[in-house]
Amino acid sequence: MGDKQRIIDLIEAKSSIFTNLSDQIWKYAEIRFGLKQSADALCAVLEQEGFQIKRGIAGMAHAFVATYGSGEPWIGILGEYDALPTMSQVAGITEKRVLNHGAPGHGCGHNALGAGALAGAVGIKDYMKETGLPGTIQYYGCPAEESGSGKSFIARAGLFNDLDAVLTWHPMTETAIWGVSSLANYQIYFRFKGTSAHAAAAPEYGRSALDAAELMNIGVNYLREHTIQESRIHYAYTDVGGGAPNVVQASAELLYFIRAPKSSQVREIYERVVDIARGAALMTGTSMEIKWDSSCAEYLVNDALGKAMYANLVAVGPNTYTPEELAFARQYINGLDDMSRARIPAKVASLFPGETPERIAEIAAKPIISDIAPYSMSGQVLPGSTDVGDASWHAPTAQVTIACYPAGTVSHSWQHVACGQSSLIHKGLIQAAKVIALTSLDLLKKPDLVEAAKVEHQQRLIGESYQNPIPPEVIPEE
Ligand SMILES: [Zn+2]
Repeated sequence: MGDKQRIIDLIEAKSSIFTNLSDQIWKYAEIRFGLKQSADALCAVLEQEGFQIKRGIAGMAHAFVATYGSGEPWIGILGEYDALPTMSQVAGITEKRVLNHGAPGHGCGHNALGAGALAGAVGIKDYMKETGLPGTIQYYGCPAEESGSGKSFIARAGLFNDLDAVLTWHPMTETAIWGVSSLANYQIYFRFKGTSAHAAAAPEYGRSALDAAELMNIGVNYLREHTIQESRIHYAYTDVGGGAPNVVQASAELLYFIRAPKSSQVREIYERVVDIARGAALMTGTSMEIKWDSSCAEYLVNDALGKAMYANLVAVGPNTYTPEELAFARQYINGLDDMSRARIPAKVASLFPGETPERIAEIAAKPIISDIAPYSMSGQVLPGSTDVGDASWHAPTAQVTIACYPAGTVSHSWQHVACGQSSLIHKGLIQAAKVIALTSLDLLKKPDLVEAAKVEHQQRLIGESYQNPIPPEVIPEE
């Protein structure tokens, strides 16, 4: 494979830079938009590697774009680096033990995601530098994937507009090309303001914001019967107006998530939810105000780019592990409950649909399922949301998932935090970097691939264009 082998060699030569970076970000474990140390660490490596960095993009202090090269095509490589609240866990052990009480932890592997995507960008950059191959590589430092949707703010600022393709990856328990869509999502606060009064002595002077919040929820619970089956609406009370029953509650707040397979469907449901909130305020003599938190568009798959990425995944090949690594992974599986272990064969069967029962059993018995799943671009809708969706509306997008964790373990678990500095995740991020860099090379060298992916992208948009629902005056909050 010549030039592709050269890129693989270039990435391997710098692998310790990338794995150290991942370990460093694991330790910082910052959340949402407050990612100063993590962004500093990523930018320091990118600067060292000759990328031009623009920090503080789209109103987020720790979002950035790092650019190398010039001319077409423009390839965007997305990196995430946010952790999850309260998930602190000691690394490298096979039991649940908190490292710092109440502190965040990397339960979704975004430390490796950011470092691995960066390694891919550096790998293709080193090759371009060596060969003079033209084109532009842009690494996007994207805060707040878990909560806050940094990419939707980058999209709102128009910073994905010029891209010809977008590539990224995610650490998982399987190795495959991402072939499913995701739910579009609005996250909005509804705030009610009323008037406090003595609840027994002068109730006629009181106007209860808590009543309004409760009536809103009742209204929305009736609405559910008249929305599409695939929609999901959930709420939480973020302010109940205090803990004193004898004081009429002057404030109350609800955080709503509204999800559906398409942004246009979410928009329609959102408008009906707003009407219900207005009605609740009218019924209770209170006032209502809306405060936006974030939104995600649904993820648009791309078969042309996905196939190119799959060919590179196969060319790179599955990771192999030492007996020690396999024994380490096995200990996590032994610690799972019976139900979690029992789910492994069914998951393998869904990933490898053409295989015999014997082969399924053989794969499911492995502590790490590094076998590459057959290519499938089903476009089915994953019951969750990701802000990669907002990037995918702007250019053909492909993602690879790499097995970095023991089989049967789940995202956002202590097990994933504990494995976050292990050689399993190190191997995974280097493998992801190679797949991203080789797919970037295809895009740089094959205008036909860029064109085919773009034609398909236009077809998938079916005449729609990206609409970010968040009002322009709303800025991301740390
Ligand atoms: Zn994640």
